[in-house]
Order: sequence, then C-alpha cells, then structure tokens
Amino acid sequence: MKELYLNAYAKINLTLDVLRKREDGYHDLETILHTLSLHDGITLREASRGVTVICNDASVPTDTRNLVYRAASLLQKTFGVERGVEIEITKHIPIASGLGGGSSDAAVTLLGLIQMWKLRVDRRFLIDLALRIGSDVPFFLVGGAAIVRGRGEQVDPLPPLPPTWVVLAKPPLEISTAWAYSHLDLTAIKRRPDTPAMQEALRAKDLLRVARLLCNVFEELVIPEYPLVGEIKERMVRLGAYGAAMTGTGPVVYGLAPDEETARRIATELASSLEVQVDVTKTFAEQR
Ligand code: ATP
Repeated sequence: MKELYLNAYAKINLTLDVLRKREDGYHDLETILHTLSLHDGITLREASRGVTVICNDASVPTDTRNLVYRAASLLQKTFGVERGVEIEITKHIPIASGLGGGSSDAAVTLLGLIQMWKLRVDRRFLIDLALRIGSDVPFFLVGGAAIVRGRGEQVDPLPPLPPTWVVLAKPPLEISTAWAYSHLDLTAIKRRPDTPAMQEALRAKDLLRVARLLCNVFEELVIPEYPLVGEIKERMVRLGAYGAAMTGTGPVVYGLAPDEETARRIATELASSLEVQVDVTKTFAEQR
C-alpha cells in the first residue's frame, strides 16, 4: 500500500459538562458528541523514514506541534517502526474553533498508519495512545454519536441522528481551551446539561427534543466575555433553527435546522448581518 486517503470528520458537542477537577490536574467530562459531514482530507504516503507533514493552510504548524505528526511519531516509537510517512492535510474544518479538527486528523492518522504499517494494536492500548494526543482523539476513533466520559477515554456509542442540517458560524475570536478550563468556576455553573434526557432523545430519534436539550457549560463563561457568541445563538433560533449552542470551548456556534432551505437562509442572513464565517453541513455517522 503506497498511499491511503481518509476523511477526518468534524464534531459538535450536543452536551458538554465538566464534572470535577481531578487531583492530576485534568477534568472529568461528560459530553455527547456527534460527527458532521464537514471533513478534512488526510493522505498518507509511504516514505523510507521520518515523518513529514504538509498542509494547504499555512497557519497550521507542520512540525511536532501538529497532532498528526504526534500521532505518527508516537506509533513509530511505540512499535519500533523503521518506515516513514508523508502526511498531507487538506483543511476544511475551521481551525481552533471547537470542531475538533486537529483531534480528528490525528485519530484517522492513527487508524490509517496501523493499516499501512500492518501493526497489531489492542483496542484498549489504541485508546490509551489516542488519549496521549488529546482528550477528543479517542472519540474520533469511533465517530458517529457517543457519550464520552472521564478525560475522554470512556466512549460509549449512541444512536446517531438521522442526517440533520447544521449551520456553523465562526466569529473572529480565539478562545484558548486552556483559558476556558482554567476560568470555569465549577461551583458557579447555573445550567448544566440533562445528559440522561439527551441520550433518551437520541434513542427516540426526537430531533426537536435534542434541539431543546443542547447545553454547554462553557457558554456561561464565554458569552459574558464575548457577547457575539450569545448574539449568534439567539439569531439562529430567531431565524428558524430548532436549537443552537456553542461547540467545545468555542467560539463556533452551531444551529440544528429543519431542512436545507432554512439552513442556507440562516447562514446567508447571519453572514450579512454579523461578523461571522458560515458553513452549512449535516450530521453524519460513518460506518467504521
Ligand atoms: P478542539 O475542539 O479539540 O479543542 P479545535 O477545533 O478547537 O479542537 P484545532 O482545529 O484542533 O482546534 O486546532 C487547535 C490548535 O492546534 C491550532 O491552533 C493549531 O495550531 C494546532 N494544530 C495541531 N494540529 C493541527 C491540525 N492537524 N489541524 C489544525 N490545527 C492543528
């Protein structure tokens, strides 16, 4: 196998709760994630040695800071692989947005290289490797809809939504995940997600109920600091979305729309009235 092409899908958090800060400094999460059809392209090409990363977006680092670089070199070191790889990333997922692009790229790189290098990796060990790259990476090994707990290592699949139109709006803000976690006051959170109810709504394939239950504890921190995020949420609902929420630690806000026409109208109206970059996509669950 000389070359392998893989899609790395984006995600949204339908719910996101932070349960507690642990003694090791990490946080225990409880989050329901869903993949979208929006994806990056990852091409893996056999090389005689080393790891080389190339990317069509010059703002993405291609050195050891890139999560695909880390994924490849972690596999090489762990399994003593002497062969190399050139990894080409074609970015479509907005960067540093809460859509998990880097983590998804890393997860498919792990899966692709295991195939390319014919490695035998036990499931538990693979999750462990993925977690060393980032807390969203274990989820992306599976994708679809799932409830994710712990630091991100406990991934339990849920029934995915039927393909649902999703509007994405990215305000021109940079929110560092480290800033968000260090400023979240766990004792002061007023509205936490009803995670059991969201699981039920997914099992019942009840889109309206899913939309009403969308909830992310980071909104209480981010919206007072960046009111544009709250403004986008409100507008999405006023323009016809069933529900809207921020994904991850932001700043992207997504809205679930009843149909394609409404999704495109929401996107157009948002882009003409607010300083946002918009995208229209759908929920998606790949059979892996
Ligand atoms: P998450 O929701 O997991 O926090 P995100 O969508 O907010 O992810 P990413 O797009 O993964 O964030 O990028 C965060 C930072 O990671 C970027 O600023 C970038 O410099 C770095 N990075 C490392 N690898 C990648 C990659 N493959 N694609 C994009 N950014 C990457």
